[in-house]
Amino acid sequence: MTASEDCRILVDPAAGPDAGTTLEAAGAPSVGEVAEALEAVLAVLPEAEVVGLVVGGIRIGATSRAYLDAAFGLRAGRGETGDAAGMTLPGPGHFRLLRYQCSRSGCPRAVVRMYHDEEHPPVCPEHRTAMELLA
Ligand SMILES: [Zn+2]
Repeated sequence: MTASEDCRILVDPAAGPDAGTTLEAAGAPSVGEVAEALEAVLAVLPEAEVVGLVVGGIRIGATSRAYLDAAFGLRAGRGETGDAAGMTLPGPGHFRLLRYQCSRSGCPRAVVRMYHDEEHPPVCPEHRTAMELLA
């Protein structure tokens, strides 16, 4: 199984295909790493209910706060920010998450990456412009 196939267990079959926020993971992350990243994203972005998932360049679908909490018991659904507030998680598999936002005012499109690629920032699907990296 490829990483993108493994990560399909995180996809909420009832979530719509579209989401304002997308999590992008490069290469072949473990399901646990992607789940940790999702947990951090939902903790830091309390307004995000549905998060699109791109793993290894493949959009595998979207997941939701309610689904992750019900299926996996992730803390994301319970409003505990704690250690995830800085978008870094403790313990093994420690990684940094990079947040990007569309530069058009009022556009809700955002991408969170588990990797850094300065040359190729994410592009807003609506405006076709490169997103800005948030500090
Ligand atoms: Zn936009």
